[in-house]
Amino acid sequence: GDSGVPGRVRVAVRLRPRNGEEMIADADFADCVELQPEVKRLKLRKNNWDTDTFEFDEVLTEYASQKRVYEVVAKPVVEGVLDGYNGTIMAYGQTGTGKTYTLGQLGEEDVADRGIMVRAMEDILAQVSLETDSISVSYLQLYMETVQDLLDPANDNIAIVEDPKSGDVSLPGATLVEIRDQHSFLELLQLGEAHRFAANTKLNTESSRSHAILMVHVRRSLKTESNGNSHMTKSLKPPLVRKGKLVVVDLAGSERISKSGSEGHTLEEAKSINLSLSALGKCINALAENSSHVPFRDSKLTRLLRDSFGGTARTSLVITIGPSPRHRGETTSTIMFGQRAM
Ligand code: ADP
Ligand code: MG
Repeated sequence: GDSGVPGRVRVAVRLRPRNGEEMIADADFADCVELQPEVKRLKLRKNNWDTDTFEFDEVLTEYASQKRVYEVVAKPVVEGVLDGYNGTIMAYGQTGTGKTYTLGQLGEEDVADRGIMVRAMEDILAQVSLETDSISVSYLQLYMETVQDLLDPANDNIAIVEDPKSGDVSLPGATLVEIRDQHSFLELLQLGEAHRFAANTKLNTESSRSHAILMVHVRRSLKTESNGNSHMTKSLKPPLVRKGKLVVVDLAGSERISKSGSEGHTLEEAKSINLSLSALGKCINALAENSSHVPFRDSKLTRLLRDSFGGTARTSLVITIGPSPRHRGETTSTIMFGQRAM
């Protein structure tokens, strides 16, 4: 898709650096991909002599900073939200490839490490005036087609409500916390992570098998212009209100789970993840093809995204991949998912 154009999905690919184990164990092997960021191309090695070439809206190498990733992936979406349009930022990829690093990193030790959620809030806080505007946040986990509140563990089955007229999606049962500064937002993210860990331990599952969803509602009052002589105006016009919603989705790991375990529990999880990720893929394809029918109804994930995806909303997808030749299969399927969105 084109940069910042509403209704289309902008797709970036991000390669994470080799980790210590891969540097040692795969020292004799080349990476499974080669990036050409200046021409926005990625070459996927099929074998020693053959490569396939793919183009993306943005190609982010292992040297791309968190700041740069924010600017190319998230900034246009955040600006739309400040202007009153909804937007979605998603990360898709195999577990361990950097989805959470890209979106959710808090950067407690080094602010340069801060990910998209923290940088987005920083940008929003800098541009609104809290005397007239408000920012409120919900933080959720979607696991096995159930929406859980990460800000209130007792709230473990939240309904998704769609307004039939406006098409607006709301979660009346979800905790909504007003944000006044970056510190309270960081605390909220930490609390959400702690609740997520506790909930997943109780359910005997891993965070890679659910989607984490942050929703940021920005409500701005725009003072109407008076024509010069303000004390001549008897009644002030009511302020215009602009509402935008930013949804950030750290998707479940895209790897085929069936191979990592065979207990019934895992199989049910696999089915549920496949259902939501394939429903998401179908919606993205429908948008890319300008189809009049986008199958939002097929999963809870896509029902949640309905009003912040396509139409006037801006959508950004970052697909994350690892460099190791061992992960060529998963890397290939991640690249194909990203390509179908273009
Ligand atoms: P995922 O959420 O996709 O499972 P993570 O974000 O947890 O993956 O990343 C796995 C590991 O790799 C983490 O230790 C993370 O800090 C590290 N990592 C991921 N991407 C990068 C990057 N671009 N630069 C440095 N470290 C990274
Ligand atoms: Mg993760």
